[in-house]
Amino acid sequence: MQRIAATNTLYYELECPFCGQVVRSGIGFRAGAINRRNYKLGEKLSWEGGSCRPAQRPAGGNLKTIGYFNCDNPRCQTWKDCFPDVQEALITIRNDVLDEVKVLRYKPTEHTFDIIEPAD
Ligand SMILES: [Zn+2]
Repeated sequence: MQRIAATNTLYYELECPFCGQVVRSGIGFRAGAINRRNYKLGEKLSWEGGSCRPAQRPAGGNLKTIGYFNCDNPRCQTWKDCFPDVQEALITIRNDVLDEVKVLRYKPTEHTFDIIEPAD
């Protein structure tokens, strides 16, 4: 996948919305201190050691952000010309903990790593 800048990665098992296969994939996201850190679900998001997004840790350490992943199944219809389409996932961070991941369709043509909550 094309990265617009450094990201963090959350490794998680996801059901691909196109082929239904459960794949272990890395979800690129841009929240907390962004320094190519690898996370698993249940780990605490760090706010130290990189430029932060948002600039300030939200009150209570709660936020929701959009991340991106690829399906690893080469027979999936998201694969075209050896390169898979990027899928979207909503990552929920509660009390600084990477708590929940949901595959969703948000803005399929943009890869803006939106922060959904808190709103600006
Ligand atoms: Zn797939």
